[in-house]
Amino acid sequence: MDCYIKQWHDLILNCNFDNTYKMVWSKAIVELSLNINEDAEEETIAFDFGEIAKLCLKYYWNQTIYFDLIQSPSFKKPPKIITSTKELIQEFFCKRGNVQPIRFEKIDFYSLKLEKQYEKTVKNITNTLRENVCWRFKELNGYTYEIYDLDSSKRNVVFSKQNVLKLKEHSDFLFTFINYRWTQMLEGFNYSPKISRKVRAIDEDNIKRASLKKFYKHLDLMFEDGQRKCFYCGEVINDTDVSVDHVIPWSYMFSDDLWNLVYCHKGENSKKSNRLPSEEDIVRLENRNTRLLQCMENKSLDYDQLQIAIDKDYVKKFWISFKG
Ligand SMILES: [Zn+2]
Repeated sequence: MDCYIKQWHDLILNCNFDNTYKMVWSKAIVELSLNINEDAEEETIAFDFGEIAKLCLKYYWNQTIYFDLIQSPSFKKPPKIITSTKELIQEFFCKRGNVQPIRFEKIDFYSLKLEKQYEKTVKNITNTLRENVCWRFKELNGYTYEIYDLDSSKRNVVFSKQNVLKLKEHSDFLFTFINYRWTQMLEGFNYSPKISRKVRAIDEDNIKRASLKKFYKHLDLMFEDGQRKCFYCGEVINDTDVSVDHVIPWSYMFSDDLWNLVYCHKGENSKKSNRLPSEEDIVRLENRNTRLLQCMENKSLDYDQLQIAIDKDYVKKFWISFKG
């Protein structure tokens, strides 16, 4: 391995697990290296802290808004950058009047008139990167790896052109390796399933929410008279108002499983968002699953999966892990 890239490898591999700042920091730098023009005359290349901060915000925004991944083991005192990111997401939801997640790259904070909040967030992140992250990332076991320089005012991170081109050349490896380490950290303090798939799906802009219509044929078995009833309020649902809800939120499960799906009124679905279901709902879901299994014919994959979920107590297990 190239000696410069080996230093990055060692730092990423061995850094501590206090929070995931070093992951977003290194990932942002590698991403910025992709824009470098190989024919540029300059011998040194400087990355502005603000530009790095915007990329860090992008990564955290997307992981938080879709999956609410926790970025540090300390629940009582979440990392500052995460707190700022969450505040911005709240302002964004307020402005739009719903809690539908949107990728950071697709948002124009200026046309939403959120530019002040956005700039404030970038500034907060910049300050934390300056004070806590930029120099710490280079240190390991009492030794400083001189992979970049910090100018005295800490406005920029300065590289030799040759080194930035190495980052660019090895960017595929570095992105994969950073995500691998990041995933390992996240698994240390997130109890939700499929962490590595979540991280990858966000990176690949590949977060598909499939239509749940294919589950109608099973869920309908519960309503012999054809009148679908809402799992939450028990009232009959008009055909125009019907929706399928994940009792344990989709953002937590990142999958569509019959054992977790119920009919409900459209409005109730969007209000619920990522809230934890009550114990009462969980017990009702377990009973529903037992009854649904009795209604189904024993010959489909869905039947088998529902049976496994009942036998293995998935509803209660995932609910307990979701509660933390
Ligand atoms: Zn209802």
